[in-house]
This record gives sequence, C-alpha cells and structure tokens, in this order.
Amino acid sequence: MEQPLANMAFSGIATFAKSPLATDLASLDADVAVLGVPWDWSVGFRPGARFAPQAIRQMSMRYAHDPERGYFDVERERRLLRGVRIADCGDADVLYLDPEHTYGDVTRRVAQVLERGALPVVIGGDHSITYPVVRAFGGRGDLYILQLDAHVDFKDEVLGVKYSNSSPFRRIAEQGLAAGITTVGVRGLRTSEDDYQAALRNGNRIVLARDYHRHGPGTVLPGLPPGARYYLSLDIDGLDPSIAPGTGSPEPEGLSYTELKELVSTVADRGEVVGLDLVEVNPYFDPTGLTSLVAARTIMECLGAIDALATIIRRR
Ligand code: MN
Ligand code: MN
Repeated sequence: MEQPLANMAFSGIATFAKSPLATDLASLDADVAVLGVPWDWSVGFRPGARFAPQAIRQMSMRYAHDPERGYFDVERERRLLRGVRIADCGDADVLYLDPEHTYGDVTRRVAQVLERGALPVVIGGDHSITYPVVRAFGGRGDLYILQLDAHVDFKDEVLGVKYSNSSPFRRIAEQGLAAGITTVGVRGLRTSEDDYQAALRNGNRIVLARDYHRHGPGTVLPGLPPGARYYLSLDIDGLDPSIAPGTGSPEPEGLSYTELKELVSTVADRGEVVGLDLVEVNPYFDPTGLTSLVAARTIMECLGAIDALATIIRRR
C-alpha cells in the first residue's frame, strides 16, 4: 500500500495552490490557468511588485487544491472547486525596460490560454499588465471590466510615456477593448481631476469607496449588464491597507475583505467571469506576508465564487 503523504503547506515547490506546473501552453489541459507577470517597470512610486508572483505562490500553498476534494466553504456549507483543474503556467517572459517584448509575450500567452478554453488568472506585477492581458480578449465578444482600485488608472500619458500603471484602462478604452469599465474603491487625495473627468467622459462608471461602504455591492451593477462577459481586475490597493499594506501606493479607507467577497460573488452571480488579474502586491512592503496571503486567498475566493455560481462548470 502506498504511504499517504502529509503534503505540508511549507513543503514542496511553490506553484499556485500546489497545482501542477504546465508551461507548454500549446497542450494546456486545464479549467483555470494561473500566469505570473513579474513586471514593475511601469511603477511611478515604489517598485517591487515584480516579486509578487513568487510571494503569492508561496502563500497560496496554504490553499493547496486537490481537484478530487475541492475545498469546503463553511459559509456556503458546500465543497467548491471540486473537479476543477487548476494549472500553474509559470511566468510570462518579461524583459526589463522593454514593455513591447513583455506585453507582447503576455498577450500571446493569455491568448493561448483562451484558445485552450481555460480561465486565465494573471498575477502581477504592476497594473500596467492589465492592458496586454485584456488585449488577448480582443475579437472574442463584448467584455465588461470591473476594476477594484483606489485609483482610476485612466491617465493618457506622462511626458509621452503611455504604459505606466496609471494608464492601462485608458489604453484599453481607446482601443475599443472594453464594452464598459466600472471602477470601484476610488478614494484619496491623489486622483487627477483630468484623469477622473476623462474616465467619466469615456462613460466609465466610478463607484467611490465612500459610496461602496454606504450602499454595498449593488452600486457596481448598473455598469455590468446581466448575463454579459466580465473581466475582474483587482488592484490590491482597492482593499484597505490594514489588511493589504504591501503595495506601492496604499490609501486608507479601502474595502474590507468582507466587502470584497460580496463584490466578487455579486459579479459572479450576474454573468460569466471570463478572466481576472490581481496586481500591485509589493512584497518589499509586506514584512508579515499578510498582503500576499490575502492576495492568494482572494484568488481562491474568486475561483470559488465563480464555481459556486457554475461559471467554470458552464465553460466545460
Ligand atoms: Mn491600479
Ligand atoms: Mn491602485
């Protein structure tokens, strides 16, 4: 008889949730494909997010996923992610100071994941990487984006620089890659009036953190038509720094974890989540590992919510 394995969370090679490594995307056979993008050359303040994919993978070992068992969600009193195959596809090939090479590689890899019918889950990296990820969805039908963020990230340029982490949604909008953009969690004293007005002129729906705190997840629904295809872009600074301090540009008054959970399940209940990213974790400012742990759990929670509401099952 085979000796049963203890498989402790701190043992083994760190892949996302201890999932099998699958770097040959041409033959990818999975329901969920996790891809790291260790890129932070587009950060205007404190760099370090390039180390997030490794840090988040390490913490995700706490949520080791066995497709035969899934995990037990005590609040729903049911098992989630049972029969769902997660693969860790390794990292995109980033080249420092070369966004063209890096973003090109990200778009190619995400497009391959989509060709193989898997749900892409992309771990940044700074928020600039959302543009090349969403670019891979081009020509595949209307996509409604839900961005969780303290910031609008709708800047046109800084002295000609167009691919900073302040600009991804401006690039996405001007290339017609989104049918709608809803940004939730905006707050702080550093919102540029020009960027804010430009986002509103584009038709973006902006839900301030203040209004989300007061009125809850229903505030995002007007920007997300029922039954549509949604893309979730989760900037960890949308959460409150008390639970996610390890990020480049933290802002007080962010969402609580409970509010994030409600947000994700409200969206997953409304239509089909076809992809997501989680960005801006900065392990240099995360000495306790809390931010990486919250990031790993957020991803598992998103996948669980999507699965609970049958989106992943429907894809198969
Ligand atoms: Mn952002
Ligand atoms: Mn932000």
